[in-house]
Amino acid sequence: MSTVHETTLEINLKSLEHNYNYLKSKIAKDVKLMGVVKAFGYGSESAEIAKKLSALGVGYFAVAYTQEGIALRDAGITEPILVLHPQSANFEEIIERCLEPSIYSEFVLNAFIKTAEKLGQKEYPIHLKLNTGLNRLGFIAPELNKVFEYLKKSDAVKVKSIFSHLAASEDWKEREFTLQQLGKFRKMAFSIFQNLQYKPLLHIANTSGIINYPEAAFDMVRSGIGLYGFGNDEKIDENLKPIGTLKTIISQIHELAPGESVGYNRAFTASEKTMTATLPIGHADGVNRQYGNGRAGVFIKDQYAPIIGNVCMDMLMIDITGIDCKEGDEVILFGGPQHPTVFAAKGNTISYELITGISQRVKRVIVEE
Ligand SMILES: *Cc1c(COP(=O)(O)O)cnc(C)c1O
Repeated sequence: MSTVHETTLEINLKSLEHNYNYLKSKIAKDVKLMGVVKAFGYGSESAEIAKKLSALGVGYFAVAYTQEGIALRDAGITEPILVLHPQSANFEEIIERCLEPSIYSEFVLNAFIKTAEKLGQKEYPIHLKLNTGLNRLGFIAPELNKVFEYLKKSDAVKVKSIFSHLAASEDWKEREFTLQQLGKFRKMAFSIFQNLQYKPLLHIANTSGIINYPEAAFDMVRSGIGLYGFGNDEKIDENLKPIGTLKTIISQIHELAPGESVGYNRAFTASEKTMTATLPIGHADGVNRQYGNGRAGVFIKDQYAPIIGNVCMDMLMIDITGIDCKEGDEVILFGGPQHPTVFAAKGNTISYELITGISQRVKRVIVEE
C-alpha cells in the first residue's frame, strides 16, 4: 500500500486479476466473460480497468450509457462495447464510435435501423434485450413478431447477441423465479434462432448468476461487481478481493472538554475529555450523512475510530480518544481492516451503491502489487 497525503481511492489491479481468475474458474473455457465497466468501473477507473481486463483476455465490455463508451474509445479501448441503455439521441455517435446498442423496444429498434440506414451501414451489430421478468427494459415474447418484421425489412443491422437480465440471482428464496426467467429466455431465444436462421450469442448471467446458476452461462456472462471484489454473499466474498481502498489523512486534532460539541447542529457533545480528528472527506465525496453520528467508523493503524456528529460536505470528524496518532497520519475508511460491505451496511446500503457513490472529486490511484 502506498502512503497518502490526501484523500485517495486506491485501485489494486492485482486484486482485479485475482477476481477475474476466480470468476473464470466458475465458467467453462469456451464461455466468454464480458467486463461490465459502467459508472466509471463501479466507481473505480473504467479505462484502467478495461485495459487490465483486456490484457487478461477479456474481449467484450459493457457500459450503461453512450458517453461511457465514448470515454473508453477516447482512452484507446478497441474491443467491442455493448451500451446497455442507449437513447435514440445517441445513435449517430454510437455508430461513429463503433459502440453496440442494446435494442430493448420497438421505438429504439425502428430509430436505430433508420440511423444505420442513413449512415450507410450493413449488418451493424445490435443486441436484442429480452424482458424475462425484471420488467425494466426489453421485449416480451408477444412483441417478437414485430421485431422479426423490422429485421426482415432491413439489412442495415444484424443481431449479434440476445440477452436478458436476472432479477434476483443472489437470492436463494427467489430460485423458482430465476428458473422461470431462464425458461422464458431459452424459449424466446429459440424462436429468434428459428426466425433469423442464424445463432446470435446468448447471455443472461451477472456475477451472482455466474456463481449460483452455472447452467445459465450460455455463450457469455456479464460480470461487474465480482470483478470489483464482491460476491453478494459472505462465503463468496471470502474468495474475492475488493479492489478499492478509500484512504485519507488526519487534517487536525482537537481536545474537547466535557460539554463542548463538534460540528453542525452540535450533533455530538463530549461527556468527558475527548480527542477528535478532522478528516478531509465528506458527503460530497460519497461518504453520506447516514455514516455519521456513531453509525460507522474508520481505522487508524488497525484501531477503530467512530465518526461523530454530522458528516459535513467536505469533512467529517472522528473520536480518536485513546488512539496513538498525529496530524498527517493515514486513515482508512474501507478496504484493509474494514471490508467495504461492512462499511456499507453501517450506512444502510450495499457495496454497489457505496463504491459507485465515491465522487469524482476523490483522486484515483492505480497500484499493482
Ligand atoms: C450492471 C449490469 C450487469 C452487471 O451486474 P453485476 O451484478 O454487477 O455483475 C450485468 N448486466 C446488466 C444488464 C447490468 O445492468
